Amino acid sequence: MSNNQYKLNTKLIHAGITPDPTTGAIMTPIYQTSTYVQAGPGDHKGYEYARTQNPTRTVLQDALAAIENGKYGLCFGSGMAATDAVVKLLAPGDEVIVSNDLYGGTYRLMTKIFANYGIKFHFIGMQDAGNITQYINSNTKMIWIETPTNPLLNVIDIAACSVIAKAHNLILVCDNTFASPYLQTPLDHGADIVLHSATKYLGGHSDVVHGALIMNDSSLEERLRFIQNSCGAVPGPHDCWLVLRGIKTLHVRMQRHCENGEAIAHYLRSHPKVGKVLWVGFEEHPNHEIAKKQMRGFGGMISFTLKDDNIDEAIKVLKKTELFALAESLGGVESLIGHPATMTHASIPREDRIKNGLVDSLIRLSVGIEDIDDLIEDLRQAIG
Ligand SMILES: *Cc1c(COP(=O)(O)O)cnc(C)c1O
Repeated sequence: MSNNQYKLNTKLIHAGITPDPTTGAIMTPIYQTSTYVQAGPGDHKGYEYARTQNPTRTVLQDALAAIENGKYGLCFGSGMAATDAVVKLLAPGDEVIVSNDLYGGTYRLMTKIFANYGIKFHFIGMQDAGNITQYINSNTKMIWIETPTNPLLNVIDIAACSVIAKAHNLILVCDNTFASPYLQTPLDHGADIVLHSATKYLGGHSDVVHGALIMNDSSLEERLRFIQNSCGAVPGPHDCWLVLRGIKTLHVRMQRHCENGEAIAHYLRSHPKVGKVLWVGFEEHPNHEIAKKQMRGFGGMISFTLKDDNIDEAIKVLKKTELFALAESLGGVESLIGHPATMTHASIPREDRIKNGLVDSLIRLSVGIEDIDDLIEDLRQAIG
């Protein structure tokens, strides 16, 4: 199926899928095999060894490419494995400009692993994309953004970053995990590589760890496929099958995530004990206009602070919720609650954290697709 023949909601069900040639099975089989028999040396059907190719993975890669409006997809054993592959496009001496409100694991990979290999990372605020240019020099090779960001829900203008990247011949990488392709397709706005932790919304059921890259440029695809095969961080076929199963309902789930997210954002804003509510859909969100331009909805990720801004008060709320489970991760059908200051962002010094707006009482919600009345009642009894 060609990428752009159908609308997203149809592509989510059909892209990349053809009935299994052996049996006609409508669902893609899990090709649980490590190798493929050849008729003679080199005489094979495009499959030689399962690190290099696997038919279940091929179907998922094609499906992900289609739903991100890209030409090529590549799958990895986790979002971090996908991230690792992208940084391996670089060589010692190269520099990367990275948005400073970043997934903690990405920050750790860059600062604790790749900094030792001579790659330099500049972490800067990018809510104003014009800020990027001053950090570009002759060694700069890449701009790395995440939008919306975790947990502060900042929004970065993808098209503005793309103009800068193209003017300086840099690769623009966009981590699209938070939005998912239902809400945002960064390649349409000029990104060169889209990155996913498919563990989150794409998988959608908190039952698989998986990562993916999507791109349009064939030479980038060739280099990344070479890294994928050489370094070997490929997903197993069963995990690919789980993600394939997950994406078939992405649109239905995201619709409900958005509806529930909007209702909870408004509920929290009206609560007397709640301080700030960070949600991309509010008109007063500093980059709401950019969000409207590049997103088709505002999602179910919400952060909020308490007027009584201290860790103990936040922990009381976290311990009291019954439906919102206290856990890391996001994007599953069930609602989750987390406390960045003591969980995902505990390694950041308190002053730096607070300077960036990540205050002691900040609570992050991944709003699931349960009944909205039950979710609001759970928050009501927990916040008190
Ligand atoms: C979870 C996450 C990752 C890492 O993905 P894993 O699948 O956990 O390896 C990267 N970026 C963002 C925005 C994430 O939320």
